[in-house]
Amino acid sequence: MRTMLTSWRRPVRQAVASDMPLRFDSSAAATLSTADELTCMRPAFVRSLSSQFEVELLAARLSPVLLDDHSVAIFSLAEHVGGDQADELERRVLASGYRLSNPARYILAAPLLLAVARSQITPQSLASNPPLRFEQSRTALAEAFQDLLEWGLRHDASDIHLNVRLNEPESEVKYTVSGRYLAPDRFRRMPTTTLVDMLSVAWMDIRGGNGAVFDPYIEQQGSLVKQVDGQSIMLRWASLAADDGPSVCLRLLRRDTGACLPGLKQLGYLADQIAVIDRVMLSEGGVVVMAGTVGSGKSTSLASLISRLPAHRKIITLEEPVEYLIPASIQNSVARNLNAVAHQSYASKLRALKRSAMTDVLLGEIRDVETGQAFMDLAGSGVNVYTTVHAPSAAHIPLRLASDFIGISADFLATPGILKLMVFQALLPVLCQQCALPASALQNQDRSFASQPQSGRQWGVWLDLVRELYACSGESWRIRNPDGCDACRKDRLPELNGYAGRTVVAEINEPPGGLHQQRPAMACAMHKAGEGLIDLRDIEIRFHAFETQQARRALQNDDTMSTTRLRMVT
Ligand SMILES: [Zn+2]
Repeated sequence: MRTMLTSWRRPVRQAVASDMPLRFDSSAAATLSTADELTCMRPAFVRSLSSQFEVELLAARLSPVLLDDHSVAIFSLAEHVGGDQADELERRVLASGYRLSNPARYILAAPLLLAVARSQITPQSLASNPPLRFEQSRTALAEAFQDLLEWGLRHDASDIHLNVRLNEPESEVKYTVSGRYLAPDRFRRMPTTTLVDMLSVAWMDIRGGNGAVFDPYIEQQGSLVKQVDGQSIMLRWASLAADDGPSVCLRLLRRDTGACLPGLKQLGYLADQIAVIDRVMLSEGGVVVMAGTVGSGKSTSLASLISRLPAHRKIITLEEPVEYLIPASIQNSVARNLNAVAHQSYASKLRALKRSAMTDVLLGEIRDVETGQAFMDLAGSGVNVYTTVHAPSAAHIPLRLASDFIGISADFLATPGILKLMVFQALLPVLCQQCALPASALQNQDRSFASQPQSGRQWGVWLDLVRELYACSGESWRIRNPDGCDACRKDRLPELNGYAGRTVVAEINEPPGGLHQQRPAMACAMHKAGEGLIDLRDIEIRFHAFETQQARRALQNDDTMSTTRLRMVT
């Protein structure tokens, strides 16, 4: 296991060491590669002084330690041993009246350093057996990973992004919170080696993953379950072997049971939309397709929809992996990773599914030919099917399903009764009702809006344009207060000041011949802006500029006029 953690870290180290300007001669540093070497070092290791020197935040890179001759050594990652922070730490050690050991600095591998700095390794524990000692450094990395995870959950993040830069000493940890891609201060400047070791340890718990070990040079996927505050959290792991190093995206799935699933109204669906959904769900057979972009909450809505089905229906799910625990349903996680065995197991699962006399099937995401065939197979057999697809609007759903990537025949999709309902949804930030400002505040030359290039006068023109487009006075429109208030301010995430959660804006299409007239999702968003819930500027960001809307409308009017003229001529 130790070999696994260190084997491909070496190229990183070499690249780093050659690039760094060094004042301290790194060759003067001693190396402690293993817990055994730490045990044998003389003078002997006593304890970490990280908390005494208040440098716990540096623990992943540097730690001052007390030795049994009362001297102090600095334990460090290889790439920090000659750095400014080590120099500064050395000055502080001397200023506190300690003597430096000889050698003064030691290079340790990330897991060992973390375990020392977090006082998980002590002279007593070093006297115990070696496997246990390695277990402790592994524990330190697992704890650091847990820390990343807990921060994400506390801030309601949907994803954690670990962007490893193999050729740089530090890498990036970002989170998606309320749909925004943010880098919290707390995880700035994460040592690359620590991050890679942490990912290696985390990968050990992966289920249904491709590869026995975390490999930065290939794309990997899988899932793992972690416990946080008694809550079960599933992480869906997807890595991209990018040019600079692996970019690992971890989707956080709170496996709450259906009792905690929000209802459609709570999610943000409007009363008339819920009425259409309820009516269509009554009919037997056919497919409900939920579309949206990545992170648009479509799986949540679908789970919420299915949890409303009456108890006399037999519901089976086939997901990759199961995202929400839906009460009274029989759920199946399938891994369809890039190998043949996984494909066979998907096919055999599907065959077994068809013999289980169910009435309703939740079929993960339709994204390739294999899932496309499962879609045709099940929809053609007369059961109720619920599924998701990536598409930019409800109207694009049939086009996407019939695309070469998925390959469902257009004739099949056009068969009456196959496509029952097509829903598109997006998530938009909701304004904090305690501190939102009237939209007219944009016209004041307020310094809070100085970051935006438009002048107050230009905002005035823009507001007039929106008023004209939607033929309303816009008196109830409001905008985000960038200063926030006590109710909405988030710890060190000023980008989210003035917001309080997100809401669904949806459009619902019944196929041709259906009763429901389409209302675009952007119109739904404008409806909510009219209630003072959404900032108009967020609507532009999510859909398109109001100016574009105006141009499109003008084009449509032109078309109508020329068609009329043509009729008059003929
Ligand atoms: Zn507020």
